[in-house]
Amino acid sequence: MTTTASVDLTIRDISAGAATGSTCSTELLDAPWDVDARDPGYGPGASMADAAPAAAPRQGEIPQEYREASAEELDRRIRAAKAELGDRAVVLGHFYQRDEVVQYADYVGDSFQLATAAKAHTEAEAIIFCGVHFMAETADLLSAPEQAVILPNLAAGCSMADMADIDQVEECWEQLMEVYGGEEPDADGLLPVIPVTYMNSSAAIKGFVGRHGGIVCTSSNASAVLEWAFARGRRVLFFPDQHLGRNTAKAMGIPLEQMPMWNPRQALGGNDAQTLHDAKVVLWHGFCSVHKRFTTAQIEKARAEHPGVRVIVHPECPMPVVDAADESGSTDYIRRAIEGASEPTTFAIGTEINLVQRLAAQHPQHTIFCLDPVVCPCSTMYRIHPGYLAWVLESLLEGEILNRITVGPDVAEPACTALERMLAVRPAARPVPER
Ligand code: SF4
Repeated sequence: MTTTASVDLTIRDISAGAATGSTCSTELLDAPWDVDARDPGYGPGASMADAAPAAAPRQGEIPQEYREASAEELDRRIRAAKAELGDRAVVLGHFYQRDEVVQYADYVGDSFQLATAAKAHTEAEAIIFCGVHFMAETADLLSAPEQAVILPNLAAGCSMADMADIDQVEECWEQLMEVYGGEEPDADGLLPVIPVTYMNSSAAIKGFVGRHGGIVCTSSNASAVLEWAFARGRRVLFFPDQHLGRNTAKAMGIPLEQMPMWNPRQALGGNDAQTLHDAKVVLWHGFCSVHKRFTTAQIEKARAEHPGVRVIVHPECPMPVVDAADESGSTDYIRRAIEGASEPTTFAIGTEINLVQRLAAQHPQHTIFCLDPVVCPCSTMYRIHPGYLAWVLESLLEGEILNRITVGPDVAEPACTALERMLAVRPAARPVPER
């Protein structure tokens, strides 16, 4: 499918029989407030089969006027509210957010770029984060205390971030300390294990990492962060995304036998003590259900149907997919690779469909399509809808701050330490090979 319409319109057209293709759920057509009312899970989309934690935030019903407003009315009201609020509010939109919301964003980017944008806007009283829960937490960590970070729909969590629960992580650490004989450095001054968390994790996990000498990474700087960690420790405990951890460590030459997986439901994570001693990277049993959908068969099909196709996938994809692709890199890398292609090129991209279709619309000189032929957006990004944005913006105008995301000082202090360590090692963006 090579359409460049928005994903929402594509889903509507497929469902109406006006376009070819398929979606992963007919419930993608349902209004998000209907999903909020009935579904304690992640909702339709890539994470619909994942089990949401019982304590995951729920979104209460928003007023009828927003549920019943037409797209045209919401558009008029959002633009009017933004104009009246001016510099008092900044709207941030993640790359994976639907076009129908991204059109109102003052900044569009990945989670770290958006948190940095939030930090730069000291004049804004409110930061409206059209992304998911952990991203709003990170924006709260980096912004000034008096600034309110707002998540338009509280049910917009992240199934991958939820896979590393703080109680399970604390339990894992206790067991590892028993195996490694405590947290003290060895004769070479190296700690037994350094915890590293991907940006896509809760503030509680970032705080845990900060308290135990660890660090945060992004998909752009994961190898530089692992090098930082190996300069200070014998091993790394990497969470929550096993695929980013495995792909990054493998590219650094670490053998797969030295990357055991930690399953939090089993004693010693399902390993024996010797395996944990021999480990270089202990991988947490987490994954992104969006990127897990990509397969080597899809790459073979793309190559058979489009000779010369350039296949670029995100490092949250499983290792065989990353190995079979021509390149792998963060959303920012993918964007720069497409922008930097001087000749018309066919790209098959392994990342979230909203970003892929937006890139296709922005670069009509290229043929750009998603490796996965089934339209299946990120479930939790999909929970944000213009109706929620209109609701939080108009409430701000009336002096009411809704859906504020705050991180308590006990967590915020060590979480900021872990983020600052990352900022100190953050390399320049990885160059895209010239084509
Ligand atoms: S794409 Fe994956 S990691 Fe990103 S918000 Fe969605 S579920 Fe979470």
